[in-house]
Amino acid sequence: MNGGSEKGTGGWMHLGTTRADSMGLVLLGSPTGTNIPLGLGISFLKATIASNPRKLLGDFKDVDKAGIALQFRVVADAHDAAARSGDVVGRYIFTDTKATNESLLVPSIRAWLDVCCRHGPCSRTLSGQQVDQHNPPLPTRCVYVWTDRDTVKFRLRDTAGTRGTYITVSHRWLSDEDMNCTRTTNLHSRLTGDSFTPLPPLFRDVITLAARLSIPHVWIDALCIVQGDGGEWAVEAGRMADYYQNSLFTIACTSANLATGLFNNATATNPAQGPPSPLIRLPYRDRKGEQKGSFYLCPDRGEEEADYWDSIARGELLSRGWVFQEWALSRRIVCCTASDVFFRCKESPLRTASGVLQPRRQWAHMPDFRLRDVFATFHALPRPEMPSAWNAIVEAYSGLKLTRPGQDRLVALSGVADEFGRALSRQAGEDEEGSVYIAGLWLPFILDGLLWEKIGGEEPHERLPSIPSYSWASVYAPVQWSSSVYLSDGVDTDCQVLDVLWAPSREAVASLDDPSFVNGPPDHRPPRDVGARIPARDRFPVLALRTKLQPVLLGDRFPTQEDRDLAARLTEQKKVGGSWRKVASYLGRNHVAGWASLEHPEFQSDGPPRVVFALHVARRFARSTPGLGYRMGVHSIFHVLFVRRIEEDLVDGYERIGVGALFGKEMERQFDTAVTRELRLL
Ligand SMILES: [Zn+2]
Repeated sequence: MNGGSEKGTGGWMHLGTTRADSMGLVLLGSPTGTNIPLGLGISFLKATIASNPRKLLGDFKDVDKAGIALQFRVVADAHDAAARSGDVVGRYIFTDTKATNESLLVPSIRAWLDVCCRHGPCSRTLSGQQVDQHNPPLPTRCVYVWTDRDTVKFRLRDTAGTRGTYITVSHRWLSDEDMNCTRTTNLHSRLTGDSFTPLPPLFRDVITLAARLSIPHVWIDALCIVQGDGGEWAVEAGRMADYYQNSLFTIACTSANLATGLFNNATATNPAQGPPSPLIRLPYRDRKGEQKGSFYLCPDRGEEEADYWDSIARGELLSRGWVFQEWALSRRIVCCTASDVFFRCKESPLRTASGVLQPRRQWAHMPDFRLRDVFATFHALPRPEMPSAWNAIVEAYSGLKLTRPGQDRLVALSGVADEFGRALSRQAGEDEEGSVYIAGLWLPFILDGLLWEKIGGEEPHERLPSIPSYSWASVYAPVQWSSSVYLSDGVDTDCQVLDVLWAPSREAVASLDDPSFVNGPPDHRPPRDVGARIPARDRFPVLALRTKLQPVLLGDRFPTQEDRDLAARLTEQKKVGGSWRKVASYLGRNHVAGWASLEHPEFQSDGPPRVVFALHVARRFARSTPGLGYRMGVHSIFHVLFVRRIEEDLVDGYERIGVGALFGKEMERQFDTAVTRELRLL
């Protein structure tokens, strides 16, 4: 055996090799390793074994041709010279029986913040505004944390109008009792008294972590917002976007954290699990070649990635509606699983305690990464791309779970909507009309917004009556957009939004016909105070439209996938719904004239054909594919909503029952000869 050493991209490291002439070694520093002030910053080692060494060094793209590739994680105990020198930045908690998540977390977070505070995007909000990194505005109230002779102390503190550093927490809501919530009855003593206990282990550990990091304030919703009767939820919910964006970082908690806290690591809680990989211990030598300690290599089998996937990306936390915007708005996130710690920011790859995660899967498929690009870039997108950015956000959010969907469906997205609105306003030169938000849709591209489709097939879903039927938010189910009509070539429309009428409630819509209301209610504009995107409970927006209506016949479901695919091709849809129904023109009953995807609960079962109205939204000119009785040529596609008249004491009121697209000469003739008319959609 030869004692060999090889020069790598990260520097020198001594290794024993069996045949130096046929083994290539490259030591990989982390991609941000250049920012680490001292040491080589090594966390990975890749090796290939082959007969022709010239093919190897520095080029791992052709590794299949060159030979066998092996990947190792390079780790060292935190107190070892290899770690203290900064040469080995990887940590592996199983190698250090004395390590706890607490001793692992504090230096890891410090090192990570050191690097991240220099990332440009990580110091900006979603809408692109600069955050004061060291002295941002504090929330209305915080948990104030200090240390008294090594004992961590805390109490509540009113901090409105003041500035300072703080961290936030993203967690699943337990019962108010389990979280020892702040209420009107205990607020005074929490503000004036000393520490209040007992707290859930998670909150206790977050407060301890803040103390260890010398961060004086922590914001936890259950403790800092007065809950229950006489509470502050309605006001404070509108400020959460700023709270999460201004926070130094957010601790995102898995369900395990809630019960056991942050600092119970795998070695402490589950010793039977043990190290998942064999370790190879090697001597560490300093620059002079003197042995000063040791470090470890262990095969990288993707355990960290699997852990992240199971505990976080696919975990329960990210299935919750409220968590969506907490993640989107937080500039930095720390997550602790049972065996590791993960750091996310807007710029660098996902980091772990042992360095940078080297992904094996397609990260774009990870649910929490799908939107990272959308959130990172929407403030700088050209206006024609804004509708699809918003649609992507809603598609990701719409399938998430809420405990109180009737109340929270729009509220839990309002922070992201607020940021999106700020970006739109700036694009429109601060023009208020350019960013009016209507129940989850944006007035500047509302025609696009109306064409959402409920997905999830036959599963029953809840309909939320407090939200207008034309909004995706009115169905508690995932939705998608399968075509865009905004400013695209060959799109024409006879549909025009005349006005948005803000009725006091759904029940009070009939009063819209009260002459005093029609002549201009005093506050028909959407509210524009703090958290303006939060739909006020006393607002129900009604769309006054000028458009065309045509009666059509809703038939059975398409019998085969082939038929559905054909209908999708004829209407240029990118995605095909599983429960599409055939639509026929009222006059040409024997021809299929399009498809309908219906979300209204009364239109879910098969039966005799029913007459409803197709409401014209947009018209697209397309080159035909032959099929379903049609030949090649240019034809029109009509993007429509299916609506029905609301039989109430209401002038021209309609509700949405579904969405679809129509085609064919007969439809074209009917829409061409139809008269435009005014109606209200609610
Ligand atoms: Zn960063």
